[in-house]
This record gives sequence, C-alpha cells and structure tokens, in this order.
Amino acid sequence: MGWSVKVATVKGIEIKVHLTFLLIILWAAVEGGTGIEGGLRGAVFGVVSTTLLFVCVVLHELGHSLQAMRYKVKVRDITLLPIGGVAQMESIPEKSSQELAISLAGPAVNFVIAGVLAPLALWILITQIATYLSRPVYLLSGTGQRLLGWILDGLFYGTDWKALVFYLLSMNMTLGIFNLIPAFPMDGGRVLRALLALRLDYLRATRIAVNVGRGLAVLLGVAGLMFFQFPLVLIAVFIYAGAGYERKMVEVKKALQGLQVRQAVTRQLQVVTPTTPLAHILDLIFHGYQSNFPVIEGRRLVGVLIREDILATLRERGPSVPVGQVMRTEFPVVNLSDSLLHVQQLIAKSGVKAVPVVEDGFFRGLITLDKINQTYALLSPRR
Ligand SMILES: [Zn+2]
Repeated sequence: MGWSVKVATVKGIEIKVHLTFLLIILWAAVEGGTGIEGGLRGAVFGVVSTTLLFVCVVLHELGHSLQAMRYKVKVRDITLLPIGGVAQMESIPEKSSQELAISLAGPAVNFVIAGVLAPLALWILITQIATYLSRPVYLLSGTGQRLLGWILDGLFYGTDWKALVFYLLSMNMTLGIFNLIPAFPMDGGRVLRALLALRLDYLRATRIAVNVGRGLAVLLGVAGLMFFQFPLVLIAVFIYAGAGYERKMVEVKKALQGLQVRQAVTRQLQVVTPTTPLAHILDLIFHGYQSNFPVIEGRRLVGVLIREDILATLRERGPSVPVGQVMRTEFPVVNLSDSLLHVQQLIAKSGVKAVPVVEDGFFRGLITLDKINQTYALLSPRR
C-alpha cells in the first residue's frame, strides 16, 4: 500500500504505518488537550493512550498472522490504517479448523492483554475506594452514586497511568468483543463460517455466514437510526458491504477452481528474442492485440516480457533497450490441466502477470490475468 512507512519487522512480517494515521495522533492530541483535564498533560495522555491502543491493534493482527504462519501461510505485512490494522496474507486456508484458529487468535490477544491488566485495574479500584473512605466524614455523606461518579471520573477521564490502565483494559475488551460479532468482514464472520464449514460445503457455509452478517448489519443500522447514533449506521453499511464482498470472493474462487488453463490460454502468439529492441515490441503492441510476449532463444523459452515492464522501461530508458534486459527470467510455469485458481494464485505470488503454459515440456502459450477474468465472465455459472 502506498503512503506507508515501515516501523518494525516481527518474524519477517513488516509492520507499516499509513501516513493518514498521523491525523489520528493529531486528533488524539487535540482531543486530549481540550478535554476535562486538558492542557499539555491531556494532549500527551491523548497521544500516549491512542498510540498504545494501536499497538494493541497491531498485536491483534500479529495474533492472526503468527497463527497463520503456523499453517505455512505467508504474511507479507501488517499496515496500520486510521480504521484499524490490515494483515496482508497470501491466502487463508480453506481447512475450517485452521481458519477457525487463525480467526480466533486476533481477539484472543486482546482478551489476554485485558486479562493481564485486570488484576492491576482491580488493585487500583480497591486503593481508590480506600482513599475515598479515609477522607473526612463530611465528604462521605454523599450517596453511593457520588462515590461511583468520583471513582469513574478519576479512572476514565483522568490523565495518569491509572486512567491509562482502565482505558487499555476497556478498549481491549471492546476490540475483542467487537471483532467477534458474527459478521464479515469481522473475525466473528470467519469464525461462524469456519464452524458451519465443519459440517457444510465451504460456499454454502459462506452464504449462510454472509446472510447472518447482513441481518445483523440491518438490525445495527435500524438501531443506529432509531437512536440517532450515526456512527453505528456507518458501521452497519460497512459490514453489509463487507459481507457481500466476502461472498463474491468465495464464489469467484470456486468458479476459477472449476475452470482449466486450456480454457483461457492464448495460443496464437508473437514470440520475440532477447536481442529485439523495445521499439519493435511497441510496433507489435500497436498492430496486434498482444501486450505480453514469450521470449525465445534458439528453441528455448528464456523469459517473459510483460506489459508493465515494457511501459516502465520505455518511460525510463527509451525504446532502444533490448528485450533481454527487460524480460522476467524467473517465472512460474503451468500445465493445460491446472485450474485457473492455481494460476491466479501463482500470478499474485510471483507478480508475473503472464504465465507460460507447457505440455510435455513444450511451450503452448501464455495465460494472463486479463484472460482469466474474461474466461470467468464468459464461463462462470450464474451468468
Ligand atoms: Zn482480527
């Protein structure tokens, strides 16, 4: 993701912060500085507490990621956005027990943090009550309500470390519980799907989980409108859209699984050699329909020339550069009988957007993401 800076690396996972996140920190400073206690102290408290909250969000994502890595899922990075953390994983396993464990690992981290803070919070609460009770009697004449008010004011609106403990405790409980709401794109949606998929077909389990999530989103939206809580309405819209996206993803995945490379391969191709200058390639692009080229030397396939690389090199180094300097020499290879899902995942993993197809050691053609999309549009069911 652009606009992100790396701040740390944990077990090979890059932790990045999106620059818009600085706005949140700024907002925390302003909010803290103009709060009840306010001033510089309030501003510092706002920044420290918000930063620690987002550290907890990163730990939540790390929980998912480390659990996923146990199942050999590659995790590229975790990016911190103003709306929360996003872990970029290669592909989540369809094995329900694994998906269940990965989904639960995130909220579990928040409950563990809350569990660690809870005894400390209890101790603070007890000492706070003890301090109150040791005060002169005239202060004690108030009701229990006043006692409660005084304690809560100190602990939830204060700007000292005690208030910080209570803030982090409550936020971690909230994060854990909120994420377990059984609706995509929350973890709870995945948990529900994984539980259903223990008994049902994966696609069916997804559809049911999506409908449950949408139902909850509608209820949340209606409640938000009734009580004029517009942030709730926004969250409801977000959940509703996210649920549909998840179903689409799974449907596309199933469809691609059922289609083979032979249905999408381009066999009529211009081949080029490593010594061909890019100027000539440009001619071929203008006069044909092809923008990715297999590179042949003798009778051997030695590289793949892809559109993005051609355009980037033309911009930076001009048209006289030979193909040999631009082509990808490391590329995956697929068979005619491989599924399109397999190809799509290979393309995502390798970044090579045109993959050579071979059969019995002979080059048969290229398959591209565009062709996969076209084939899906033409041949997938329910169209
Ligand atoms: Zn999560």
